[in-house]
Amino acid sequence: MSLHDHEISTIKQSLENRVVALPDGTALPVIGQGTWYMGENPQAKNKEIKALQLGIELGMKLIDTAEMYGNGDSERLVGEAIKERRDQVFLVSKVYPHHAGLDSIESACENSLKRLGTDHLDLYLLHWRGRVPLAETIEGMERLRKDGKIARWGVSNFDTEDMKELWDTANGKKCATNQVLYHLGSRGIDYDLLPWHQEHNMPAMAYSPLAQGGSLRRQLLSDPVILEVAEKHNAQPLQIALAWTIRSNNVIAIPKAVQEEHVIANAQAAAIQLTTEDLNSLDEVFPKPTSKMPLDII
Ligand code: NAP
Repeated sequence: MSLHDHEISTIKQSLENRVVALPDGTALPVIGQGTWYMGENPQAKNKEIKALQLGIELGMKLIDTAEMYGNGDSERLVGEAIKERRDQVFLVSKVYPHHAGLDSIESACENSLKRLGTDHLDLYLLHWRGRVPLAETIEGMERLRKDGKIARWGVSNFDTEDMKELWDTANGKKCATNQVLYHLGSRGIDYDLLPWHQEHNMPAMAYSPLAQGGSLRRQLLSDPVILEVAEKHNAQPLQIALAWTIRSNNVIAIPKAVQEEHVIANAQAAAIQLTTEDLNSLDEVFPKPTSKMPLDII
């Protein structure tokens, strides 16, 4: 599938028009790119690199990786994909909780930077909460920020109580975002976490926005209401699922895609504006939570 120049610029434009502001004012397109499992299969490497580069060309400039993914293989692959394009990319990586203490966060970050072939990250996230006290991780993050190794930091897999605790910790208000699982089939955070984010002017980042695999994915692909909304927008069911995650303009979704047609479909989803009627029909099949749900994690 090859795109004409005018198609590329239309997609790019729609992503430029749909941005979310981080607390420091940095504007990011609502759809970025995930990289979990990339870099692990040598035979897939070229295709994965091309997919990420196409995504960047289309305007999905945020690339999310982690030291955990493939034991650094994902970061190495991203490094290859962004060589000579570093300035076009908003680069996100994550530190393991057991590397998030003052004795190891700096070397963990240095190792990520080396694998990524860059001198700084745009965003560094604590992958999930471990045993290291939040105050210590924040201090480590702030030191990295002052040294210019990261431009900003955030967290991942934090539930509302964790965010409240973070907020009340010294320098905790410097957190840029919280990356959490969110898709139509898993919308527990609509109850309290997303409202917390809204109230504190901090966007959330939605991981696995396409439900990755399994039965929920099958449901997103075959549910009659999704199919009906998709037909109305002349779109694919998963594009509707993606458009749903970004509907509030306070969430950045980071789907992972290696197939070229998936990369294009995901970028195009930024142009889909779901109507109140669409959202109400989707709510009927995938209801809003009416009580606190434990945070979903994979
Ligand atoms: P996902 O993005 O929900 O789903 C990825 C799967 O969907 C891949 O199999 C991909 O296939 C397929 N796909 C992508 N676009 C599609 C389209 N338009 N139509 C049909 N299929 C499509 O799952 P994910 O990788 O779990 O989540 C995304 C990213 O979030 C990860 O890669 C990672 O960067 C991040 N993440 C973070 C955490 C955390 O704890 N912070 C946890 C999980 C994920 P192809 O690749 O073959 O195109």
